[in-house]
Amino acid sequence: MKKIILTGDRPTGKLHLGHYVGSLKRRVELQNSGEYDDIFIMIADAQALTDNFDNPDKIRDNIIEVALDYLSAGLDPSKVHIFIQSQLSALTELTFYYMNLVTVSRLERNPTVKAEIQMRNFETSIPAGFFTYPVSQTADITAFKATTVPVGEDQLPMIEQAREIVRKFNSLYGETLVEPDALIPKNTVCSRLPGTDGKAKMSKSLGNCIYLSDSPEDVKKKVMSMYTDPGHLQVSDPGKVEGNTVFTYLDAFCTDADFEKFCPDYKNLDEMKDHYRRGGLGDVKVKKFLINVLNQELEPIRARRAEYEKDIPGVYQILKEGTEAAIKAADATLAEVKAAMRINYFEDSALIEGQQARFNK
Ligand code: ATP
Ligand code: MG
Repeated sequence: MKKIILTGDRPTGKLHLGHYVGSLKRRVELQNSGEYDDIFIMIADAQALTDNFDNPDKIRDNIIEVALDYLSAGLDPSKVHIFIQSQLSALTELTFYYMNLVTVSRLERNPTVKAEIQMRNFETSIPAGFFTYPVSQTADITAFKATTVPVGEDQLPMIEQAREIVRKFNSLYGETLVEPDALIPKNTVCSRLPGTDGKAKMSKSLGNCIYLSDSPEDVKKKVMSMYTDPGHLQVSDPGKVEGNTVFTYLDAFCTDADFEKFCPDYKNLDEMKDHYRRGGLGDVKVKKFLINVLNQELEPIRARRAEYEKDIPGVYQILKEGTEAAIKAADATLAEVKAAMRINYFEDSALIEGQQARFNK
């Protein structure tokens, strides 16, 4: 069986460090591994509209931001297809048919959607499109027969929903769709990076992000204002590293080589954590180390972004070509789905001839 990747992001803002460690960095590694037959990266504008339908310009303006973030993070358009979701009518059609295969109560049980409804104050009036977006995400994944979906932990219930729909479809209509597997970061910190405010998830909607396109000064300002351990008042006080966001970020980003380069007092993060726990290590020193680590990671990304920003028509051309390739793949699956569902009337000459024979009797 072919190995195919489908993944993507909502164009609701620039991409941040949570996207980077949760999914984007991994995508670049998978792209460069050469192990995949096809890689589709989707800018999920139609999904973003389900909770931003009143602000279409926000989505329109952020397509280019996400595309620039992709390219600057190292996604290579000669190896992956970057495409815009709304331009594939096959995805909407598939969604419509998959709606028959889920119940309202099943959708209500989705923990991520539940949390997102609460975050958006949708409790009293949930847009039906938002409520059913896990079904549309199933269409996105299955349209490409994706085997692998690299995502952060918040997406696990979506992948489970997709697997259920695939099984139901195949058992009703015959083996057609492929059951996908989620690929979650091995480092648990990376699968759900907290925000700079210490909240459970760095998220565009919560405004607690360090963006891939932030300047070195922005990164410095944001890290310097991060919470650490509220009980660690004096440098000499013993400190907590658990729940201390600065250390959580170091868990996600720093390597032993970074200590040699930026903070040779310690060999590795464990030594630094031990000192912090004992007391005698100030927050400013830890924060300065984190700033260096983050800026080192972001520097090549910023440099590539600056190059691509000079050629916006070129970036749109990349999106257009990616979208054309994606349309072809999704249309082929839709044709198979329609055949399996017995709604391919005009492609099925046996149907027409068979019925003629019946009427001739
Ligand atoms: P929004 O607030 O508009 O939903 P978001 O910041 O949650 O935006 P998405 O576009 O919904 O971002 O998520 C895109 C991908 O990034 C998903 O695979 C998701 O799991 C991953 N991701 C998002 N935030 C984080 C995070 N803080 N840590 C790890 N992965 C994340
Ligand atoms: Mg999200």
